[in-house]
Amino acid sequence: MTSSIANNVSRVLDEIAADTATAGRPVGSVTLLAVSKTRSADEVREAHACGLTRFGENYLQEALDKMQLLTDLPLEWHFIGPIQSNKTRPIAEHFDWVHSVERLKIAQRLSDQRPADLAPLNICLQVNISREQSKSGCTPEEAPALAREIAALPGLCLRGLMVIPEATDDDARQHAAFAAARALFEQLQAELPTLDTLSMGMSGDLDAAILEGATIVRIGTALFGPRNYAAAANPTH
Ligand SMILES: *Cc1c(COP(=O)(O)O)cnc(C)c1O
Repeated sequence: MTSSIANNVSRVLDEIAADTATAGRPVGSVTLLAVSKTRSADEVREAHACGLTRFGENYLQEALDKMQLLTDLPLEWHFIGPIQSNKTRPIAEHFDWVHSVERLKIAQRLSDQRPADLAPLNICLQVNISREQSKSGCTPEEAPALAREIAALPGLCLRGLMVIPEATDDDARQHAAFAAARALFEQLQAELPTLDTLSMGMSGDLDAAILEGATIVRIGTALFGPRNYAAAANPTH
């Protein structure tokens, strides 16, 4: 019998393919990032055996511990959680992508601390697209100037935007938020034509995200099942 992770991976990949086709977008234009926060190294290993190679983590220490157990696999690691300025060095040293950059100071530190023998760190600027008080991300108004400054940093390669819209089951609201992100992304692309990444869409809203132009969807629950929040909240990270 196939495992539940294997079943989930094939179901999510089918859904991405169907949404991509519905949107009239090219096959393969949406990348699946498996969000493995709170999951064990063995679960990551199992997902890799199902063909997944890109994994997203929110908590630095948890991620570093997991990476150490998985050095035999050719995985691409994406940091997607809030970044404290005293934690930028290990992020710059161990990750391939960071989706959660929201201020210049953090970007400068990541650039300065990126080891010279590694390719520039791929960056998405996080934008608070639904303008929620409690949410991370720069405002849409701040995004153009910040993008320009980040694009000039030598240790980084600015790839695009990341958004986490307000959580809602309302399809029209999901579409409106993702459409706003896409409009901002296209505005930035006019000035910075190398931008190619719109990181948006999670387990609950990936259909709307793909229809509105997501190029990376970040999926946790739909691949691995519900998270154990007690473990996630454990402050050892
Ligand atoms: C946890 C998380 C996800 C995945 O969420 P699911 O609802 O489990 O798919 C995606 N993006 C970010 C930034 C996250 O923190």
